[in-house]
Amino acid sequence: MNSRSFFKPGIRARLTIIILLISLIPLAFLGYQAYFNQKKFITEEVTASHLELSNTLAHGIYENLEFTRRLLNAIGELEAVKSLNPAVSEDFFNALMRHFAFFKLMYLIDSERNIIATTDAATKLPADWLYSKAIRRSYQGSLSEVVTSAEGMPFMTLESVIKSPERLGITGVLISEVNLSSIRDLLRNALKNSKSQGLVLDEAGSVIARSSEDSRTLNIPMSETIDSDLTRLRDIDGEPYLITAVSLKKFDFYQAPNWTIVLQIPERIAFDAIYKFRARIIRILSLTAVISIFLAILLARGFTAPLSNLINGARHISGGDFEHRILPMSSDEIGELTTTFDEMRVNLRSTKADLDYRILQLSTLYEVGKAISSELDFRKLQNMILEIVVKVVKAEKGSLMLLDDAEKNLTIGVAVGLSEEITRDTRLEIGESVAGWVVKNRRPLFAGNVETDPTFQSIKKKNIRTGTMMCVPLTAKDKILGTLNISRSEPDSFSEKDFELFVNLANQAAIAIDNARLYRYAVTDEMTRLYNHRYFQQRLDEEIQRADRYENHVSLIILDVDHFKRFNDTFGHPEGDRALKAVARLIEKNVREIDIPARYGGEEFVVICPEKNGEGSLIPAERIRTAIESFDFRINGEPVPLTVSLGVSCYPDAAKSKADLIQKADFALYYSKQHGRNQATLYNPVMNRNDG
Ligand code: GH3
Ligand code: MG
Ligand code: MG
Repeated sequence: MNSRSFFKPGIRARLTIIILLISLIPLAFLGYQAYFNQKKFITEEVTASHLELSNTLAHGIYENLEFTRRLLNAIGELEAVKSLNPAVSEDFFNALMRHFAFFKLMYLIDSERNIIATTDAATKLPADWLYSKAIRRSYQGSLSEVVTSAEGMPFMTLESVIKSPERLGITGVLISEVNLSSIRDLLRNALKNSKSQGLVLDEAGSVIARSSEDSRTLNIPMSETIDSDLTRLRDIDGEPYLITAVSLKKFDFYQAPNWTIVLQIPERIAFDAIYKFRARIIRILSLTAVISIFLAILLARGFTAPLSNLINGARHISGGDFEHRILPMSSDEIGELTTTFDEMRVNLRSTKADLDYRILQLSTLYEVGKAISSELDFRKLQNMILEIVVKVVKAEKGSLMLLDDAEKNLTIGVAVGLSEEITRDTRLEIGESVAGWVVKNRRPLFAGNVETDPTFQSIKKKNIRTGTMMCVPLTAKDKILGTLNISRSEPDSFSEKDFELFVNLANQAAIAIDNARLYRYAVTDEMTRLYNHRYFQQRLDEEIQRADRYENHVSLIILDVDHFKRFNDTFGHPEGDRALKAVARLIEKNVREIDIPARYGGEEFVVICPEKNGEGSLIPAERIRTAIESFDFRINGEPVPLTVSLGVSCYPDAAKSKADLIQKADFALYYSKQHGRNQATLYNPVMNRNDG
């Protein structure tokens, strides 16, 4: 198997592939482009909205912190606090706590680190608390770290240093723990209508606030966002997120904390529309593919159906069937090809019919030639010729007419479809009726329709009224022997080809007839029309050989007219001749088909009787004798008696050779003559000429 035959897509498969490629490639390309552009666009949109939101949030957070800080500073400026008055301060702190929920704890310490006033009696100053740090933080405005309370709430500590103008020193510190739940509220408010999640991370990346309890994020240290915004796609707990991180330090806030605002949205939510778009594109692509395949099949059918039709037709022709008509299925090039192909089929069919007919003609002519050229019996030959012609040309009627020896009259030799009377009595002169016309003009006549054919109509005494006929002269060596005639009752039912075949058959027949005629002259006696002496001798030789071969008999009858010298003397020689002809006919009539009658010479005749013994041959001998004796021969109206004497002998019973057979028959004849004439005698060994 070579690579070509391994994969050979048909027209349908190729068209399907082409249409699929043409329809799907641009669609897939456009879909791909649109998908990625949309994704980019949405990413930008999300980033922009996140940046705007973080801007708002940053300001909110800062303002929140700033307010708290200023409030604390303002409290530190109060006289009661400045003078470290415990009772007044504590009352005041409690009042503030009630007012501002974000205050978790508020207390005041003196320069000796003693708690002077507090909102919670259990308050303790952290052990690692240092004045120096508090002063630095206060002055620099930096915030302490965010701490998560035991309840899980994030809070941070704000400090305000209390300075005494009189003493020029620090008298105490106002310390407050501030709840960061306000930042969480801020986030929740800002993201109320957004699908994004928001988180605020401290310097170390720990979460200060989140928009919802389940929001998770990456640990994004401040160092990553301090200089620029951060937008990236990252997986959080295995799910891809679009994350925007903005540092509070980016804004020109005075004493802002190193916090980061993180806004994030799961890709699955951000890109929901694109994913839907992508799914739609895939659906459209699939649908297009299905439609394309369907269209391709339809289109391919348009191509392949007419082609299959053509191929099917071609198969019929290659199988030798020229009758299968191929109709075009379309009016395109394939249709044109189909039409041309069908024309070719019609031409081939007629060419083939032509050739078939020629072959039939040739084989018929060959067969006919072979058959008739070997037939020398004149009568058998005529019958054979007419039979073959009528069969081959499918004629209804036919006849073979022959010119008589004087070449003056045409008589019917053999006929098919004609009455016995017509066959026997028709006698045409040259120029008379159709056959006479054909002989006279020496050319064939083919009347397709005898009612309209002008030549046929011009001929006098024609006997056909309707139908079609053909009459051809039988010509051999420039000599006209007669005519061959055939007819049909349906007009125009013979074709030109039939005529051609008929003429060829007639030519073959004429040669055979001429041969048989010459042969007949060579082997027959001119006057009696019986076989001559030479032929008799030859046939007797053959019959004796045959008898030897088959261990059979052959008998010979010899007969001699009685007192014929006297007959001649009384009535004259011509009457004698007439009598001899009559005797010949009577002999012919009274023997079998296979018997061979001949003129032995003068007024003596012989009959060879193959396959018969002496006794058997006495029967025809006696029959001949009786027939001649009782024949009513008249001269000038007067009956004249005519008798014959016969002798019979048999080979090999009585004779041992041909000459012996003739001699023994002659002995028997002599015996008949000697014993009163007008009788038939079988040879017996006691007979001889001498003892009589
Ligand atoms: P029979 O045989 O009875 O003894 O007497 P016959 O008169 O017939 O004797 P024979 O056979 O000797 O005579 C033969 C005669 O037949 C002689 C001849 O005139 C006659 N003959 C022979 N050939 C022809 C012929 O061709 N035409 C005519 N008219 N006569 C012929
Ligand atoms: Mg004689
Ligand atoms: Mg005689």
